[in-house]
Amino acid sequence: MVAPTMRGRFAPSPTGRMHLGNIRSALLGWLQARAAGGTFLLRIEDLDRARCKPRFLEDLYEDLRWLGLDWDEAPLFQSERDAVYREAQAKLEREGLVYPCFCTRAEISRAASAPHGLGDDGPRYPGTCAHLTAEQISERSRTRAPAYRFRARPGAVRFTDDLMGPYAQDVQALVGDFVVRRNDGVASYQLAVVVDDAASRITHVLRGDDLLPSTPRQLQLYEALRLPAPGFLHVPLVMGEDGKRLAKRDGAFALAELRARGRPPEHVLGLLAAWSGLGDGSPVSLPSLVARFDVSVLPHAPVVARESQLLDA
Ligand code: GLU
Repeated sequence: MVAPTMRGRFAPSPTGRMHLGNIRSALLGWLQARAAGGTFLLRIEDLDRARCKPRFLEDLYEDLRWLGLDWDEAPLFQSERDAVYREAQAKLEREGLVYPCFCTRAEISRAASAPHGLGDDGPRYPGTCAHLTAEQISERSRTRAPAYRFRARPGAVRFTDDLMGPYAQDVQALVGDFVVRRNDGVASYQLAVVVDDAASRITHVLRGDDLLPSTPRQLQLYEALRLPAPGFLHVPLVMGEDGKRLAKRDGAFALAELRARGRPPEHVLGLLAAWSGLGDGSPVSLPSLVARFDVSVLPHAPVVARESQLLDA
């Protein structure tokens, strides 16, 4: 049984219009919290100032409201929380767990050898700057602002995902020491997400399984910062018919598009429910989905979204 004190969240980045894949994660997180009588929070992950646009934020609020997904408490904005991230970084620095790194992307690629890290996150960091002397650091600081890396602990990090089951990853072998502050001065996603989920006392993180490989890094940060880690549930993503995950550029799957075409929310909820093992595609209301929500029926494999389904939705 899930304790009534459960706290879940949706943490979107307003870098484009939300598509049905993003919305499905929001819906499932909301259902999980509401079905347990828990709290659901919204956090705006707008660290990437260049890509986050106010109009996408407006769209996001509208999309959520249109579907009836509400949230408790005022949303946190990551762009306003740098002082908190710096405090966490300072705590890690005091323990010698963070060091400045002056490598350029090209240098890292050249120095990296197999294994090649984690796809999207680039090659494994080979530790080039892990043991610079104070002199070398001040010398290099003259020409380049450093990024800051966390000294990843070697050995497998293991956890049990609430949907995907046991998962293990050797962060040091696969990713290497990872960035907690980028060289443009912005806190990294990995650091911010941990600090914020802990600050919001999140007990359950439900998100797309594109972030499953990030979770071991986050667990290392929870441990190093001595913060309690939440439970995790990663849902397989929604794919387009081309086998690629839905992206914000796939206009047909933008919720705003369906709203504009006059689809009622119950139809869109019916489609999202069908993609989640919670229905057969027929229109459904939000309260009946709360009653139906059940982690054990969620699919373990990616779902394919067909444009033809949108005609009925
Ligand atoms: N902001 C991230 C995204 O939009 C999600 C972060 C998370 O749920 O941990 O992909």
